[in-house]
Amino acid sequence: MMNRRDFLAASSACVAMGASGLVADDADEPGIIDAHSHIWARDIKSYPLAEGMTLDDLKPPSFTTEELLELVRPHGVTRVVLIQHRPFHGVDNSYMLDSMKKYPGVFTAVACVDATQDDVTGEMTRLQKAGAGAFRITPSEDGTTPWTESDGVRAMWKHAGEHGMVICPLINPEHLPMADQMCEEYPDTSVVIDHFARIGGDGQIRESDLKNLAKLARHRHTHVKTSAFYAFGKKQAPYDDLIPMIRRLCDAYGPERLMWASDLPYQLNSDNTYPDSLALIQDRIDFLSPSDKQWLLRKTAARVYFGESDPA
Ligand SMILES: [Zn+2]
Repeated sequence: MMNRRDFLAASSACVAMGASGLVADDADEPGIIDAHSHIWARDIKSYPLAEGMTLDDLKPPSFTTEELLELVRPHGVTRVVLIQHRPFHGVDNSYMLDSMKKYPGVFTAVACVDATQDDVTGEMTRLQKAGAGAFRITPSEDGTTPWTESDGVRAMWKHAGEHGMVICPLINPEHLPMADQMCEEYPDTSVVIDHFARIGGDGQIRESDLKNLAKLARHRHTHVKTSAFYAFGKKQAPYDDLIPMIRRLCDAYGPERLMWASDLPYQLNSDNTYPDSLALIQDRIDFLSPSDKQWLLRKTAARVYFGESDPA
């Protein structure tokens, strides 16, 4: 976690970034959206932990809604997409839902459901009514059954496409062909691939993986999160080694289908900071125009996750 000195250093870096636009010093400028952060509560009476988890397992020990807001707001980030932290809170999405109620307009949520339950689509509808109309899925959603052969996962993709919900796959590069097949079969479903499909997680950014991720762009409703920079390539700020990958995705998807996200609190791993993540998009990529940056830093997430048809 960030110590106090890092936090102060990060805050002064933010003042320096004012010249690049898209920060809170312009009252007319809508703020940045961070399209991916987790939160967890230590109040486990109200928000029970997943089976087998104890308070000692939480690392960092605390990352509450309030700690998140305190960290992001000095950097011009006004809205955040919350992602259910399944290892800690299982499929109990109530901490995210309560945070949305507590801070209206600030958050939207990507929930987790049990794809093997009888009424998975009913559960999705209940969550959508409560404000969480996006769903995170992983390759092991239905045990070891691939998505293409899982009735539950298929029902999720179909239901999402019919009801304006979003499917958010957290996958590795080897799962891209499976995701491609699902996108092919459910072309109306809005999809957001997390964290570059984790290309470069082992340090190697492979052409064959990039090709597979770029291939998904032919489905109109697919998007990619350019995010979690601490986890890919050299895994070190300023993350310039990730720029060619972002360029490649920009060419394939266009900036209107890419969104920046931090993956807090994990962006704070080792000596990475929150402004390190923002700075890659804001300051270090010369092929992105100011308008392109608005899509990556706000408008794509506003459209996909906050339901704005014509985001400012
Ligand atoms: Zn994450």
